[in-house]
Amino acid sequence: MFGWFGKRAGNAPLLDEGLWESATLPYLFMRGMPPGDGDRLRKLASEFLAGKQFSATHGLEITPFMHVQVAAQAVILVLELGLDWYDGWSDIIVYPGQFAPEREFVDENGIVHQVNDPLAGEAWLGGPVILSYEDVALAGDERSRVAGYNVVIHEFAHKLDMLNGAPNGFPPLHKGMSLAAWKGAFSAAYDDFHRRVDAADALEPSDGGAALGELPIDPYAAESPAEFFAVVSEAFFETPEWLEPAYPAVYGQLREFYRQDPLARLAAA
Ligand SMILES: [Zn+2]
Repeated sequence: MFGWFGKRAGNAPLLDEGLWESATLPYLFMRGMPPGDGDRLRKLASEFLAGKQFSATHGLEITPFMHVQVAAQAVILVLELGLDWYDGWSDIIVYPGQFAPEREFVDENGIVHQVNDPLAGEAWLGGPVILSYEDVALAGDERSRVAGYNVVIHEFAHKLDMLNGAPNGFPPLHKGMSLAAWKGAFSAAYDDFHRRVDAADALEPSDGGAALGELPIDPYAAESPAEFFAVVSEAFFETPEWLEPAYPAVYGQLREFYRQDPLARLAAA
């Protein structure tokens, strides 16, 4: 009896199975996913697309395949949380490639981005998510320079972080989670990673970035606690086999927060 026109009625047309499978096949986070979870993810992605407004810019034409790519990667974060974690905003803007925002777009509080200039993605507090399609398509692509690089997971992790204000690496924790445990795990890992990036940077002139390439997560995580949370969220879903040994306490906190265990899925695969 609930409205069949409502965004949250849960009756958005289910994404075509063939389209869903071809779009999601290469994604690392799909490894070992039980069929039942895959079905729930597809349903969630269908509802996500019914509730968000996509727009393309700079001549890009968004295809249904591209919609599915973005949706699948966005909803993996909330598979066990629910779509209402993405409430309060609706626009997803897609550029063909990386973009350099106008100056007026970068001086407000709460705007965070993936790389400095040009940008692969941005998430605005209370506003849109902006994505470079070229970067969206890199996820699951073996040619991707950084394994586990995932701009969609990254920007949507910022969105979760922003649910309690400007992004700072502290999303709203669930009842029963310990703020002290979260803070302890993340502060220690962030400090350690900072040191490792500094050490790798110092070698860079002679080793051509080899040490940076061997870090367990993207060095961009050392930018700030907010970026650290977004990058470890990418790693949690994409390369848990690298994140967990490097930062087991962070992995444990993310497992409690996302209510998923990608490493266990992987082991069962
Ligand atoms: Zn970021």
